[in-house]
Amino acid sequence: MRQSELLAALEEWEGRLAALSAESEAVSRRAGPDPVSSGLVRQREEGEARLRQRTSALRQLELEAANLKERATRHERALYDGSVRNPADLQRRQHELDSLRSQLDSLDERQLEQIELVEDDERELVRLDQALQERAQEVAAARAADEQRAPTRAQAEAAARAEIAGLTAQLPESVLRTYRRISQRRQPAVARVVGSTCSGCRLPLPHRIVEELHGDQLVLCENCERILLL
Ligand SMILES: [Zn+2]
Repeated sequence: MRQSELLAALEEWEGRLAALSAESEAVSRRAGPDPVSSGLVRQREEGEARLRQRTSALRQLELEAANLKERATRHERALYDGSVRNPADLQRRQHELDSLRSQLDSLDERQLEQIELVEDDERELVRLDQALQERAQEVAAARAADEQRAPTRAQAEAAARAEIAGLTAQLPESVLRTYRRISQRRQPAVARVVGSTCSGCRLPLPHRIVEELHGDQLVLCENCERILLL
């Protein structure tokens, strides 16, 4: 095998290992606390606090209304049962009754608005509960799948490491250094020559370069510096 072929194989295996490592990291993340669930739990706590606050505001309005109603009833009784005869007194009571009734009307409106808010909060909590349940199922399913694939993943990682070690052992240190240097800047670092064109940068290669490729020395593309592979 030419050095360029070994390097191409090395690059491929390193790519596979990187993908497997990224997958392992994702698996570890999924095994830990789920940020989506935590966010939903937080939202639910906020929603519950809001619901408590709005429910207590509604109770307050109800108490206020009951109080106003009681006062209005007292005035009505006094006005219509004939117990109050003084015209000034009657007028004052009538005036107060009118004021109480208009206060009750506006209180009614505020109560209705508050009831709507409380109902919104209740619906939101139901929605969050559903979302939490669905998310818990998703997380459980993902973790089960991760666990099932764990042995295969470990095998694949071990195989990739073995391949990489085997290929690295066949290559001189200087060649590996060149490969690493290029790999840091260009991906892939090894580019196949297709019809005397570098597949990395898609520029045509001089005849001389293509000729050099038949030897075992590393040949780099003069344009993109990639290692050329015949
Ligand atoms: Zn090139």
